Amino acid sequence: MDPWENALKQLDEVARVMDLDDTIKEALSLPELVSESRVILKGVNSLEVFPAYRVRHNTARGPAKGGIRFHPQVTVGEVKALSMWMTWKNAVSGVPYGGGKGGIIVNPKGMSKRDLEGLSRGFMRRFAHVVGEDIDIPAPDVNTTSQIMGWMLDEYETMKGRHEPGVITGKPLELGGSEGRTEATGLGGFYSIINAVKAYDIRGKKVAIQGFGNVGYYAAKFLEEVGYKIVAISDSKGGVFDESGLNVEAVMKKKQETKRVKGFGKAITNEELLELPVSILVPSAIENVITQQNANDIEAKLIVELANGPTTPDADKILEESKQIVVPDVLANSGGVTVSYLEWVQNRMGYYWTQKEVREKLKDVMNKAFKQVHNKMVSEKTTMRNAAIGLAVDKVVSAMKIRGQL
Ligand code: GLU
Repeated sequence: MDPWENALKQLDEVARVMDLDDTIKEALSLPELVSESRVILKGVNSLEVFPAYRVRHNTARGPAKGGIRFHPQVTVGEVKALSMWMTWKNAVSGVPYGGGKGGIIVNPKGMSKRDLEGLSRGFMRRFAHVVGEDIDIPAPDVNTTSQIMGWMLDEYETMKGRHEPGVITGKPLELGGSEGRTEATGLGGFYSIINAVKAYDIRGKKVAIQGFGNVGYYAAKFLEEVGYKIVAISDSKGGVFDESGLNVEAVMKKKQETKRVKGFGKAITNEELLELPVSILVPSAIENVITQQNANDIEAKLIVELANGPTTPDADKILEESKQIVVPDVLANSGGVTVSYLEWVQNRMGYYWTQKEVREKLKDVMNKAFKQVHNKMVSEKTTMRNAAIGLAVDKVVSAMKIRGQL
């Protein structure tokens, strides 16, 4: 279940549905630039080395854009897949970017703040020559925070000897971050869920959320605010289930105090969470959690992918046959990069919007993207994933043709 294989299979499927030329498909499948390096952390009595990557998948529609993750399961294949998904995502939401992604193979949990800073600055020192506000613009992803973006920005600007806040997004407000960026992926996910509930007439208010980082937490919070019952929440260590509904804020408080989602209702595993009798399932953690092995046991009518790549292509087929709706990552979790775009625009004009203005713009982008993908899905009688990636492929191929690349 290599994410890169999955990303290529998805493209194959779309190419088949669209009757895309094989050479064009090849041009879309190969990344433009794969940069591989390592970050060295040198302590007083210690020395550690961490492999690191930045991949630029396609820049026909604009500079590469996408996050950097710090995770022990990062591989170059995963970063390539994530960069391809960013190309599709940015095209679907219509932001003027191509796709990129980065990562360090590291387990940052339990690392000291000082080491985390060293790692972040070290990454930027290695990759400063391949990023830039008109070249490739990183952002947060799994286990990377606004503070990490702040350190990376400082390292880059110190190296260049000038300010260039648009080189990285998801920054702290003090350094040119945007109002509304922290909650953007979760809020965008919330808009996607509401749009899907209306479009597919989903009844029932029970929701299970896998992953309780920045994305899962905000999605849960916004859903709870409008009356959904969050019956299950998990993080990488396990989860909790309460049929009468969990209090999202209380679960978060507990997680902050004990580093665990624990002590409410019944303890469950991440696998069990996926198979609960809920109406809406929101995978918000990592790839490959809905697979051929468990897809038949998933009861939710609506699955909204706030993680990148949570469903394998085999599982997609099973869910399609059982008429379960999957709102794909490249549409559902595009709220983060959409507000990253708004942050970049604000950095470049040097004028800043209020949270209300940012949220209104985000809502417009999410609603428009949903409508376009849904219309294409209906008219072409395909899945939402094929419709979304198909829409993106159309836009990217058209930009490559106009540039004279194809
Ligand atoms: N890491 C987020 C994603 O996967 C956000 C990327 C960005 O803001 O550039 O979409």
